[in-house]
Amino acid sequence: MDDDALAIHRSASGQGAGSFLETPLDDRFVMSNSRFATACMRRLGDPWPGFAIKPISAPTCGNTTLDGRVCGALLDPLGKHQECRAPGGGLISRHDNVVRSVALLAVRYLDRRPKVEQIIPDLARPVAGQVEQARLDVVVHDLTARLLVDVVVVSPLAGDASFRRACARRDGHAARRAECAKRARYPTADLVPFALETGGCLGAAARAFILKCADAADEPEKERQYLYRAISSVLQDGVSRQLQPPR
Ligand SMILES: [Zn+2]
Repeated sequence: MDDDALAIHRSASGQGAGSFLETPLDDRFVMSNSRFATACMRRLGDPWPGFAIKPISAPTCGNTTLDGRVCGALLDPLGKHQECRAPGGGLISRHDNVVRSVALLAVRYLDRRPKVEQIIPDLARPVAGQVEQARLDVVVHDLTARLLVDVVVVSPLAGDASFRRACARRDGHAARRAECAKRARYPTADLVPFALETGGCLGAAARAFILKCADAADEPEKERQYLYRAISSVLQDGVSRQLQPPR
């Protein structure tokens, strides 16, 4: 395996990374058959996981760019281009769907009214003479503390060669790097940098947050499975959507 294939392989490891494979516990988090198939093929390292019929030569990217053109870039069998550079809102909806799910999941036992997309004045910072506001994805209060959850979905294939090599060597490298970047941007103990790799690997803070939510439930073990399954399905739904050719 080359570095990129290895990086994808490692990105699919760790607790909860493959939870979308488990039996659905709730209709809300059921994936469509085709996206489920794509997510399975990608997990197995199959080339062209988003294509029902494997292309013989590389097709071009049919996504529409921000300025309204068809992208036209040559696609690669691992889906690197589609996963990292897909225009047309794929990256944004992949992130926003996870944000919505984190809020939905927190409602179950932790906080009945989490707030989504909140501006946190104490975390604003000056940038080039202007004030850059801090907009955090989900703000949750449990009985004792405030938690500022900020979601980031990262691909182990997005980055320079040394980053990708590191992702090929160590499980969870991309998630760890993303967590560090969030902590540098929002230096507060309340922060939960909820980092997910496209292969499914969850960062340590995301796993700790899931455990916290689950521990508030009557049946923590069952709840933990539910939460992992839900997050994994929402994530893989978004990743698979990007890997499939636009219709
Ligand atoms: Zn493209």
